[in-house]
Amino acid sequence: MKITLLQNTALDITATAIRTCWQSFDNSDHGGRKDLSLIDRVGNKFKHSSTLEHLFYTFYISGISRACLQELARHRIASLSVKSSRYTIKELKEEKPFVVFDDRAGKYLVATGDDMVDDMSLKALENLRVVLDSGISNDRAKYCMPESYKTELTWSINARSLQNFLSLRTDKAALWEMRELAYSIHDALPDSHKYLFKDMIDG
Ligand SMILES: Cc1cc2nc3c(=O)[nH]c(=O)nc-3n(C[C@H](O)[C@H](O)[C@H](O)COP(=O)(O)OP(=O)(O)OC[C@H]3O[C@@H](n4cnc5c(N)ncnc54)[C@H](O)[C@@H]3O)c2cc1C
Repeated sequence: MKITLLQNTALDITATAIRTCWQSFDNSDHGGRKDLSLIDRVGNKFKHSSTLEHLFYTFYISGISRACLQELARHRIASLSVKSSRYTIKELKEEKPFVVFDDRAGKYLVATGDDMVDDMSLKALENLRVVLDSGISNDRAKYCMPESYKTELTWSINARSLQNFLSLRTDKAALWEMRELAYSIHDALPDSHKYLFKDMIDG
């Protein structure tokens, strides 16, 4: 998978939002150490978490499976724009038969590392290719896509919801691919923002 941070809100916007409550703008050091510690104190420690909702992140996520996407989409306090299989599975029509799980198959499928599962995924991919090659419409053919089929999306989320996401999905109980996604999303954050998510990753 590949995660790219497309944009994020500057931290001092959140500091301004917090200072609005007490009209303490004069105390600001314009995104310096005082403001950063204020955000952590009010947003995290005082549980005035709604102030963290001013802080937004937009990521481009590619190479996750549809199985992973299905779990990601359960996080309702986020926005997704996903590659449409209805419009894009025609990409398979150009392909030759899939016989082994090589780099060409890896362009379409997430490998699990379990040979039997990956072999069955490959067979499902080849079945899908045959269905499309026979002229059946995308709207019908998509019903035999394997869960391992790769997808991509633009994902936007605020800091409060991202804390919840990271806490749930870096946990050992989460699906392995979701854990990998959660850690990769954390890695893609600006270093200066990571202190807000420390407890969710280490906790
Ligand atoms: C290990 C694990 C196993 C799971 N297994 C399953 C499973 O077997 N089946 C299944 O269906 N799901 C399962 N889930 C998904 C889980 O139930 C949540 O849907 C998902 O983790 C999103 O979490 P969330 O609701 O906190 O996030 P979001 O939807 O982003 O919501 C964020 C927060 O907003 C608040 N909120 C959002 N909507 C409402 C609402 N309608 N009412 C009140 N408060 C709201 C809550 O405080 C919530 O924590 C699993 C999740 C994990 C991490």
